[in-house]
Amino acid sequence: MKLLIQNAKYIASNGEMKQSDILIENGIISKLAPSLTESAERTVDAQGLLVSPGFVDLHVHLREPGGEKKETIATGTMAAARGGFTTVAAMPNTRPVPDTKEQMDWVMDRIKETASVRVLPYASITTRQLGQELTDFAALKEAGAFAFTDDGVGVQSADMMLQAMQKAKEVNMAIVAHCEENTLIHKGCVHDGTFSKQHGLNGIPSICESVQISRDVLLAEASGCHYHVCHISTKESVRTVRDAKRAGIKVTAEVTPHHLLLSENDIPGLDANFKMNPPLRGEDDKKALIEGLLDGTIDFIATDHAPHTAEDKAEGMQLAPFGIVGLETAFPLLYTHFVLKNIITLDQLIAYMTTKPADCFELPFGRIEEGAAADIVLLDLNEEKEINPDEFLSKGKNTPFAGWKCKGWPVLTIASGQIVWEKGRVTA
Ligand SMILES: [Zn+2]
Repeated sequence: MKLLIQNAKYIASNGEMKQSDILIENGIISKLAPSLTESAERTVDAQGLLVSPGFVDLHVHLREPGGEKKETIATGTMAAARGGFTTVAAMPNTRPVPDTKEQMDWVMDRIKETASVRVLPYASITTRQLGQELTDFAALKEAGAFAFTDDGVGVQSADMMLQAMQKAKEVNMAIVAHCEENTLIHKGCVHDGTFSKQHGLNGIPSICESVQISRDVLLAEASGCHYHVCHISTKESVRTVRDAKRAGIKVTAEVTPHHLLLSENDIPGLDANFKMNPPLRGEDDKKALIEGLLDGTIDFIATDHAPHTAEDKAEGMQLAPFGIVGLETAFPLLYTHFVLKNIITLDQLIAYMTTKPADCFELPFGRIEEGAAADIVLLDLNEEKEINPDEFLSKGKNTPFAGWKCKGWPVLTIASGQIVWEKGRVTA
């Protein structure tokens, strides 16, 4: 498909605002120049819109195989497209887990058949994510694994984690860690803080996360492996990562929109749409996360899109599964509450969602340049509307942000040169 975008105002990868026409052919950006007159199958006038590289989300749960009631690769990537994401990395806590070459082959085939946007599948660190034996990293890399993680659970044994990092280093891949020390979870369902005390609920203390990050940065130093911290949520964790970076340890970290936007003080009551892991922490943690993002301790933003059915979430705060959806609300929420409130700039936000995650993992995506993959989202920064979960293309409607009024909505999403989503119309 040959596509021409006219009058594109976009932020180049060096952060500069540029204006140009964009010609897309064979899945790549073939020409960037003013006033292109090429004939194309489709010409889009981007006047009045912001053209951004398609967003990159390195933490999503697509639930397939095994959790198709909650989401599939097809529905999750449609949701990604609607949210402006053109590359997503899929977590391996599925049933079965992609822990063998055969299972990874199945996932790769399924992506090829059903995904609307690029999906980078994680393989697990340990067999069935049980923390007992390492998977075959070389074989899984060969089969297409993006990196290794046991997301959903922490790797409990320090020796197992060290071996994992040594192996990952050998095959030049990253270890991506959900940090949770099992002996400190205390059967918690929310943060161990004022909300848990008010409601008589078991709380998950901050040290449950930070203790494991502290261990892991030292293991990363010992192994020389690229170690990435998932969904960082506490002030102690931020300090630990900051210190580790200063010490020259190869550590990177991500933060979710919900941990930047909400604290335990914002939980309205026993509503499981405010239940996720890690939980919403204290106000001072939220402040430390914003500071950490601004000073470069935290590298980028990832949604931890975690769809569940309404029935799952109806089980209440104690029993409902952890997780909220995020793909279809991330940009409007962050644009409205951080850019429009002058906490971060527009080019910073775009970088946190494009070049920064790409650079951390040496991915050639998230930039508008001649020769780059044609992954592009057109954003209407002036459109204002309420978040309505009924409009989500994700099967999961489990969001704490329903009814929030936001600006900055995607209008059209192009992934690998194909229009994969357009406002008011769904395109295959
Ligand atoms: Zn996790």
